[in-house]
Amino acid sequence: MIFYKTDEEIELIRQSNLIVSGALAAVAAELRPGITGLKIDQIAETYIRDQKAEPGFKGYNGFPASLCISVNNQVVHGIPSNIPFKEGDIVSVDCGVQKNGFFGDSAYSFGLGILSHEHKRLLEVTLESLYLGIEKATVGNRIGDIGYAIQSYVENNGYSVVRDLIGHGVGRDLHEPPEVPNFGRPGKGTMLQEGLVIAIEPMINLGKKEVRVGEDGWTVITKDLLPSAHFEHSIAVRKGGVDILSDYSIIEEEIKKNKNIEQLSIKIPIFAPRN
Ligand code: MG
Ligand code: MG
Repeated sequence: MIFYKTDEEIELIRQSNLIVSGALAAVAAELRPGITGLKIDQIAETYIRDQKAEPGFKGYNGFPASLCISVNNQVVHGIPSNIPFKEGDIVSVDCGVQKNGFFGDSAYSFGLGILSHEHKRLLEVTLESLYLGIEKATVGNRIGDIGYAIQSYVENNGYSVVRDLIGHGVGRDLHEPPEVPNFGRPGKGTMLQEGLVIAIEPMINLGKKEVRVGEDGWTVITKDLLPSAHFEHSIAVRKGGVDILSDYSIIEEEIKKNKNIEQLSIKIPIFAPRN
């Protein structure tokens, strides 16, 4: 059953998402080769608790940390470790927050130091595909329109879409119906209605689409061990247009100031203003 949200509930989900974005911005300020995932996790958790919110992932199905940190061939659900990041790493950081009974969920992939052209392009194509998916999240469209927009753009650029993990509804639970695959056919699936709040989160591989779960029982890695990228926004479908509830602008301000993170250059489409 899909829980459509009222305007008041959407504002609460926005509050939780803005804390997620603030935590990711705090991460972006400190990320560099030599720092560890455990340290980054601690920075995010401190930020979240300072906002009088709870980390949404810690303890969720037994996950041990506030952030999922997935490096290079790790796709998602990586557990923060004491291994220092290196120059050239792709570090995907996923963060969840719960406040006032509602979750926020958003992720950003960072390139440390100078990336190879093809790794930088992987990040850019993944980010661009997220916005192309979001652009389709309008009243009267269907879930398949979102997935098709993401999949066709990614595959036309020579990358592959992970099938085993998908986006989801978000609200009182971190994962709610409907499922939001990053692949699909136009005009198929659930029709999008006013008040639907979903996390759209393309997980895109440089090589083949196949993934497996690693020995820790959590970390999802690419079977061909080539790198992967992951970006995620929580969005609300509204009459006036799509309303992005998480906020990359504060993360990107920190990236601009941090010489250790590769700047991505993509054209971000302009969406209808909030209603
Ligand atoms: Mg997430
Ligand atoms: Mg999610």
